[in-house]
Amino acid sequence: TLKHLFSPLMLRKTEIRNRIVSTGHQTYLAEQGVPGDKLIAYHEARARGGAGLIIVESARFHETSFSDSAELVVVDDSSIPGYRRLAQAVHRHGAKIFGQLSHSGRVSKRVKEGMRDVAYAPSAVPDNRFHTMPRAMPLELLEELIVACGEAAGRFAKAGLDGVELVSSHGLLFAQFLNPATNHRTDRFGGTRENRMRFLAECLAAVRANVGEDLVVGMRISVEEVEADGLEAGEVIEVCKALARAGALDYVNATTGSMAGLGGSIHVVPPMDHKPAYVAPQAGTLRAVVGLPVFVAGRINQPQIAEEVLSAGLADMCGMTRAMISDADMARKAQAGQFDDIRACIGCNQACIGHFHQGYSISCIQNPISGRESQMGAVTHTAVPKLVVVAGGGPAGMKAAVTAAERGHRVILCEASGRLGGQALLAQLLPGRAEFGGLITNLEQELKRQSVEVRLNTPVSKAVLLDMGADAVVAATGGSPYRPALEVDESANIVQAWDILTGKQHARGSVLIADWRCDWVGMGMAEKLVREGHHVRLAVNGPHAGLNLQMYLRDSWAARLHELGVAIVPNARIYGADATTAYLLHIISNAPIVCEGVETIVLACGQKPETTLEQELADWRGEVIIVGDCLSPRTAEEAVYEGLLAGRRL
Ligand code: SF4
Repeated sequence: TLKHLFSPLMLRKTEIRNRIVSTGHQTYLAEQGVPGDKLIAYHEARARGGAGLIIVESARFHETSFSDSAELVVVDDSSIPGYRRLAQAVHRHGAKIFGQLSHSGRVSKRVKEGMRDVAYAPSAVPDNRFHTMPRAMPLELLEELIVACGEAAGRFAKAGLDGVELVSSHGLLFAQFLNPATNHRTDRFGGTRENRMRFLAECLAAVRANVGEDLVVGMRISVEEVEADGLEAGEVIEVCKALARAGALDYVNATTGSMAGLGGSIHVVPPMDHKPAYVAPQAGTLRAVVGLPVFVAGRINQPQIAEEVLSAGLADMCGMTRAMISDADMARKAQAGQFDDIRACIGCNQACIGHFHQGYSISCIQNPISGRESQMGAVTHTAVPKLVVVAGGGPAGMKAAVTAAERGHRVILCEASGRLGGQALLAQLLPGRAEFGGLITNLEQELKRQSVEVRLNTPVSKAVLLDMGADAVVAATGGSPYRPALEVDESANIVQAWDILTGKQHARGSVLIADWRCDWVGMGMAEKLVREGHHVRLAVNGPHAGLNLQMYLRDSWAARLHELGVAIVPNARIYGADATTAYLLHIISNAPIVCEGVETIVLACGQKPETTLEQELADWRGEVIIVGDCLSPRTAEEAVYEGLLAGRRL
């Protein structure tokens, strides 16, 4: 039973119906700086799905905070109507809603009309990630910010929100003031802890003065920034205790990491190789001394894990943000005991934070409706049920089968091999990627729920379709590893990355990986082989390894490979090999790069579409939809989305 998870929590006069919170996270769904239909539909779906509390993503309260991304702005009253509509939509379903206020300080970066905006921070200390050199804030600006912060909170109150959270986490402005490494001020806002806290304390006081006594006021803070020169746990606890003693806070929302630097950024949205609920012990330490309710987040992806955190007394609310990006109805299903129906987040970070960093609206690789709620309605039932055969049981085929069945078609999913999952089965074998297999487990569950008939070891041909009497076929036949034309002699030992993963082939001696995709496979193979004792060189067909991965993940993985001694050769493409040498070309200068002492060349060059079925069906009378790798090389996200669209078209 989940008795702790589904017990209410009182904060001031606000009763939150359960302990599940969607923490503030950037969505790229804001429209002209305010909540519009997209953001409202997104949060309403989570409120309808049973969340207790929605904390809306951070909004900037002053013009000196900015970024290149679509973000909320609460600098004047024009933001109130959008927030009001959002609050009403969330309240309609019994959830509560807080607004978040932040200022980026030295990590503010925006280029407008060819000119970089001026970043302001406590002191002129450069930032390592955004490469900014901020100006130290003049005292008058600081005082203006305190007033602006209070007024912005007042707008939340006018819009009918239930609370306000200041973002003191992740190396943003409030944290920059707290941290002696970024705050060198000699006025009353720098020096002693009391002085470094003053900006935050005065902002909190301004917030309270503007929102009255009823609204909840809290703070998000990184209990540890996990960063060279970052805030450390002991210091953060003292700050929280002092603010609690002063009565400035109703709760503390604990997280870790910092987006200002490089080492701590991986904790901003921890990926699948981090243990579930790994921040909870630190939240528990804080909770034991602070005397306030404590929220915690960080890979709490299942209700049972949240229940453990709560019942162990480590926190009072659990941030389950990605759990609800992946399945908006997670809370409702958990309360009903439908645990197998929950589409658990696998911590891949590809479509949520990954999209955000690429500059478009967040979604989920498993749940393409996420972030598209205002555009994609519910699945409609078909008036003309058909017999649909899906050829290929990878993510694209599985999702197409599920969706077609949801529409009321009779669906048979045929997979040529003995297992569903396609290339996701291989991806889960890469180091630190085991949880990727959750994508398959979740899709298998959906197939069961929709009563899709699955036939394994069943290749599909035109004759098979005629025999079955199929009306429509979804071809999701996948692809095979691509082997580029190389100048090689017979002595060269060349193997495919996928064959190493499945154990069909083995690397020997010193290895060069030819990575043409700059994604998981090259970096994953490098880590696997170096850990197995090989000397590894990773030759990437681009400026850096993992170019196509989410930024925080790419950086931390590159750092790990560096520590393990993998030599990365950027902008290099293989063109030839013999028994001991790989011949590469620098893709920009065309200069040759000769790598000697190479005994195995591992190809991670992507794949080519498998089109046999498609060609065979050129004159077939039925409907044919082609999805996934057999149409074009696909990420798992693209495959699932394409499968969903195919199922809806049928
Ligand atoms: Fe979780 Fe990946 Fe979906 Fe993000 S994209 S919510 S990490 S499953």
